[in-house]
Amino acid sequence: MVPSLDLTALAQAQLQLLAETLGVVSGAVYVAESLEDRPQFTELAAYPHGESALRLLPTGDGWSGLVRAGRAAVPLLYDRELVGLLVAGREDRDWTDRERQQLQYAAETLALACALERRCQWLEAAQAATLRREQEFLATLFHQLRNPLTAIRTFAQLLRRRLRPEDANAPLVTGILQEAKHLQELLIEGEQPRLLPPAEMRSLLPAAMDCTPVEAIALVAPLLEHAQARVQTLGLTLEVYGLEVPVTVQANPQALREVLENLMDNACKYTPVGGTVCLHLSTTPTHGQITVADTGVGIPAEDLPRLFERRFRGRQAQSDIAGTGLGLAIAHDLVQQMGGTLTVESTVGRGSRFTVSLPLAPRLQLPG
Ligand code: ADP
Repeated sequence: MVPSLDLTALAQAQLQLLAETLGVVSGAVYVAESLEDRPQFTELAAYPHGESALRLLPTGDGWSGLVRAGRAAVPLLYDRELVGLLVAGREDRDWTDRERQQLQYAAETLALACALERRCQWLEAAQAATLRREQEFLATLFHQLRNPLTAIRTFAQLLRRRLRPEDANAPLVTGILQEAKHLQELLIEGEQPRLLPPAEMRSLLPAAMDCTPVEAIALVAPLLEHAQARVQTLGLTLEVYGLEVPVTVQANPQALREVLENLMDNACKYTPVGGTVCLHLSTTPTHGQITVADTGVGIPAEDLPRLFERRFRGRQAQSDIAGTGLGLAIAHDLVQQMGGTLTVESTVGRGSRFTVSLPLAPRLQLPG
């Protein structure tokens, strides 16, 4: 065990206290570690400060033999296990019972601190090992996902070559290729070694988010193709409004795409057959707004305040609809990082409405 600065400071303070109250002139605190069933002692603190008290260390016959006039060695015991040793020396007089008791109290405090430190270090080591295992698992998973993904791209490319450009299925194949490319970008991002532990990882998108002027219609168009295909297979209707007025917002295109994909995915997922999913672009004097609305199951009022928390699924945690409770938290985080807001309105049984509001991009100044 490598003792922490806190434990060392505590041991030092206890020795100082014993010097002041009992007149101890020389003392030391050791931590014990069991090596091949024999305790090995390492000096934790010494009094006077900085002066090694090794001469007080127990020798072959153990520490108990050291207790004699003016000198005491008190084992630090926790749960009947030896975790260290307190040694205190004073030449001029023997210890009274009260003083022995006081040494005992100091030893108990130190034993507790040593035991807590051990437990803490053990937990940290176990946590680090779990983290390493998780990272290894993810690295392997990311790696193994590459091959099927490459196969999907290859099949889609072959298919595209076989289709005439005017074929009604051509946009679907383009959609497959775009999504496969998106997945590949995420995998590359996921394979980068990261300093942050997974728990703090909010999204696989780059942490430093560059925002540029983004033409909302250009960004939304490919998403709509995917959404169109999705609503068709689910028996829903897609409605789109506001595409006639250009809206240019200040955003990170990759992040905004991820946000809208999450919202569209939820709208489709939580809307029963026959319902409608709607995407609406609009502006205020300062912001561009993209609203994703649906006529689905809606969200109970009590779930709304926690909706953007990671892993929160509210009422849907009890439903058959699969989910992780991560999509909205990631979307909310990304929108905030872009300097915008994500808001929600919903009524159970009638539907939900999520609005992404982002600052309008500054107008380009034309030369001359
Ligand atoms: P997931 O959908 O994987 O559970 P999300 O973070 O995307 O996770 O959403 C969190 C929760 O918010 C969902 O579990 C659901 O309860 C609710 N929710 C999100 N979008 C909708 C929606 N369009 N309609 C109804 N409920 C929704």
